[in-house]
Amino acid sequence: MAGKNVAIAGGGFFGLYLAEQLALKGCKVKVYEKSSELMSRASYVNQARVHNGYHYPRSILTALRSRLSFPRFVNEFRDCIDDDFDKYYLVAGSLSKVTGEQFRRFCQRIGAECEEAPSSVKRLVNPALIDSVFTTREYAFDSHKLRDVMLQRLSAANVTIVTDAVVEIVRTSGDGLELVTTISGQSETSYADHLFNCTYSRINYLLNRSELELIPLRHEMTEMCLVEVPDEFKRMGLTLMCGPFFSVMPFPSAQLHSFSHVRYTPHYEWSDSAKKPYEDAHIKFEQNTHQSAWGYMLRDAQRYIPGLSECQYQRSIWEVKTILPRSDSDDSRPILFRANHGLKGLHCVMGGKIDNIYDALHEIERVIELS
Ligand SMILES: Cc1cc2nc3c(=O)[nH]c(=O)nc-3n(C[C@H](O)[C@H](O)[C@H](O)COP(=O)(O)OP(=O)(O)OC[C@H]3O[C@@H](n4cnc5c(N)ncnc54)[C@H](O)[C@@H]3O)c2cc1C
Repeated sequence: MAGKNVAIAGGGFFGLYLAEQLALKGCKVKVYEKSSELMSRASYVNQARVHNGYHYPRSILTALRSRLSFPRFVNEFRDCIDDDFDKYYLVAGSLSKVTGEQFRRFCQRIGAECEEAPSSVKRLVNPALIDSVFTTREYAFDSHKLRDVMLQRLSAANVTIVTDAVVEIVRTSGDGLELVTTISGQSETSYADHLFNCTYSRINYLLNRSELELIPLRHEMTEMCLVEVPDEFKRMGLTLMCGPFFSVMPFPSAQLHSFSHVRYTPHYEWSDSAKKPYEDAHIKFEQNTHQSAWGYMLRDAQRYIPGLSECQYQRSIWEVKTILPRSDSDDSRPILFRANHGLKGLHCVMGGKIDNIYDALHEIERVIELS
């Protein structure tokens, strides 16, 4: 690919990371981002968890991949990582899909640190509802710092970035691709040898406009609450799993904690499918009522950890979360990579978690000749 013109639709973490890697291989790379800011969508609105496998007792493959990506991501983005808190995983006595013993054995199997939590922590939970509390090792990332690091790296790699720029349509032109874009409201046409579609919840927008086959994807309208936690929880992350439970994690870029709940974070869902008219995820997002479920989240969580009742709600951040249909049954987070999807040179890339970028890159390098 050296010397090739590469366009990237989407200036989230996936688009930016890929842009740098391709530029370092000698490509001339241009990123088009719909918003006026980079990494302002799912790459900002997420739980900021650098996964270390614990979250996936029902998908050993995702757990093991996370164990490999964790040290790599933490080392590569050291200055963007918050590791200055204690991370506890809790297992509920009922409704849980795993028992405490199963969780402990699962951690052993994937080689992830997991010890019984000290009594000072166990006394914070309601023993009638919580079966076990484990001390684990998991970190959070600061999305704003990550964006700033990526911007510096892209500048050093001579990547061109265009914001307020929507890639609308792609079609074949000679040996390459013709792109129709809207840049600050003006329609423009440009050419590229390859286009990487890294638009996450909107991957099918571009495919639909280009009259190409849609990729089956499921979307959830999600709400994450940002809260001020009581002092005793300030340097703590708590995840009650595996079932209809919740998570309270440091959210470094806002210096607050994120509060999410498996039952109440997703407000509603829909799917992209060839069988019905396409619905634009960003339009659905704009039309969403954004009516908070904070009260429900807190009422449920404080039954398990009474001290959380003192959390001070600050605000909610919302985003469309996009999931591959096959993640439904086992909660796995595989990557999506479709090379030459409908057109030679058009490649669709999506990851279910931020550190999936390494798996995505691995697949891209395996399938497409990059150097
Ligand atoms: C609620 C929630 C919680 C999550 N929690 C975690 C977590 O704790 N840990 C973790 O690792 N992962 C988590 N994830 C997943 C993680 O956020 C995503 O895997 C990752 O951010 C995807 O990055 P991206 O660059 O593909 O998407 P995005 O950051 O959404 O970037 C896509 C970009 O494409 C732009 N775009 C759309 N259409 C066009 C177009 N036609 N032309 C140009 N630009 C366009 C958008 O404006 C957007 O900026 C979570 C996700 C959500 C939603």
